[in-house]
Amino acid sequence: MGKVTGFMEFERVDETYEAPVKRLHHYKEFVAALTDEEAKVQGARCMDCGIPFCNSGCPVNNIIPDFNDLVFHNDWKNALDVLQSTNNFPEFTGRICPAPCEAACTLGINRAPVGIKSIEHAIIDKGWESGWVKPQPSKTKTGKKVAVVGGGPAGMAAAQQLARVGHDVTVFEKNDRIGGLLRYGIPDFKMEKWLIDRRVEQMEAEGVKFETGVFVGKEAIGAEVKNYSTKTVSPDQLMKDFDAVVITGGAEQPRDLPVPGRELAGVHYALEFLIPQNKENAGDFKNEIRATDKHVVVIGGGDTGSDCVGTSNRHGATKITQFELLPQPPEEENKPLVWPYWPTKLRTSSSHEEGCDRDWSVGTKRFEGKNGKVEKLIGVRLEWKDGKMAEVPNSEFEIKADLVLLAMGFVSPVQQVLNAFGVEKDARGNAKATVDGQNAYQTNVSKVFAAGDMRRGQSLVVWAIREGRQCAQAVDEYLMGSSVLPR
Ligand SMILES: Cc1cc2nc3c(=O)[nH]c(=O)nc-3n(C[C@H](O)[C@H](O)[C@H](O)COP(=O)(O)OP(=O)(O)OC[C@H]3O[C@@H](n4cnc5c(N)ncnc54)[C@H](O)[C@@H]3O)c2cc1C
Ligand code: SF4
Repeated sequence: MGKVTGFMEFERVDETYEAPVKRLHHYKEFVAALTDEEAKVQGARCMDCGIPFCNSGCPVNNIIPDFNDLVFHNDWKNALDVLQSTNNFPEFTGRICPAPCEAACTLGINRAPVGIKSIEHAIIDKGWESGWVKPQPSKTKTGKKVAVVGGGPAGMAAAQQLARVGHDVTVFEKNDRIGGLLRYGIPDFKMEKWLIDRRVEQMEAEGVKFETGVFVGKEAIGAEVKNYSTKTVSPDQLMKDFDAVVITGGAEQPRDLPVPGRELAGVHYALEFLIPQNKENAGDFKNEIRATDKHVVVIGGGDTGSDCVGTSNRHGATKITQFELLPQPPEEENKPLVWPYWPTKLRTSSSHEEGCDRDWSVGTKRFEGKNGKVEKLIGVRLEWKDGKMAEVPNSEFEIKADLVLLAMGFVSPVQQVLNAFGVEKDARGNAKATVDGQNAYQTNVSKVFAAGDMRRGQSLVVWAIREGRQCAQAVDEYLMGSSVLPR
């Protein structure tokens, strides 16, 4: 434990943000990591409470009290080793994880929780700056070949773990760059993409091969899912060429809003707006969907919606309104009732702070427009009773809308991809596989494993990393009879 009385002496200090007036002029990250001294003081706030709920609150089970203590004692190198023992990509989670660990922090019961995510961020950035993060190629080769389908965080974590124990791993990715939603989805201002390139380089040095622009499947997928592939490989071919196949294709099928006027120009899925923006920032081409000088309506109150708000503000939208079907959550959670679990409460992102009107319990009746272009949204107020939704009589209203972004989540993985492998699905259309026991992560198809959003449905980067790691351990055990990889 760092300092016995640290939690009583020191207040929580958060990372600072560049002011909105400045950051709205660019797409770069705007969060300043803690200085060494600040991180040390924050590490001293950890109480070493005995049962570290933070450790189980973190999906990759980061050993949080240990790295807090090591940072407090200025032992950054060992703190990095502890962090890397559970998390392949802390520079991703240290930036974009919603930090369920902090909701589970014991100090958080009656004071501000330890700023775990900011300490993680500081450790990994220092590790890279100091040249301590190095490729870890296997000294021996097993001669086994593994194909990973999908280069998002789940596929990357699985591939890295498998390569580090000597398997020949090839990642097949339909898009032109590796990273999944981290690359094409999450805006650059939340996480810059060179961070992924640096990991790809490290993984190549560990022996992982990346085949980008390659779609694995049989039939074409719908235009609503971005597919920048130039080549197709059949699942049968992979089954012939590889000893095991891991499918980590994400949950890319967006939820639609089939109301009158949906077909009007100017009504788009969120990723039709966000992906081209990532590509514009990468210098590929200009995002043709512009929010500049427009009245933008974002439908859906989650992360994706918030990213649409941040991007629209950077375009220079006139006004942005975000609607959510559910009622407004409470400002503060009922701690004794929900701790150490992730609470439902009002969350205001940095994008919201940059400017946006938010409204809850709102349903969309239809879109109206002229000459095939959307001009307004007709909405209705909703009331919720016993979990059931009903329209409030005579509450219809209209709002000007030149651009509507549908950010209502994702229903499932692309079904054609699962069908091409003949993989059985669960009730929600995800690849069916358990996470425990002898057949962990195995689908019904021999030697085909599934992990990440493709198995669990739309989730978080940290869960994708966990599943990729655990799945790698299961694949290794399947190929070798036993495994030294951690779960
Ligand atoms: C806009 C947005 C913002 C988000 N923000 C956050 C956030 O702030 N924090 C957070 O923790 N999570 C966030 N998430 C969720 C997070 O990004 C995902 O949970 C995570 O990326 C899932 O990882 P994955 O590897 O399972 O799948 P994905 O990241 O979806 O990667 C799957 C990859 O597989 C490829 N693929 C699919 N099918 C094939 C095929 N047949 N052949 C070849 N390649 C294929 C896809 O092109 C894709 O690159 C956000 C999601 C979105 C959409
Ligand atoms: S990965 Fe997420 S949950 Fe785990 S320690 Fe980091 S911020 Fe917390």
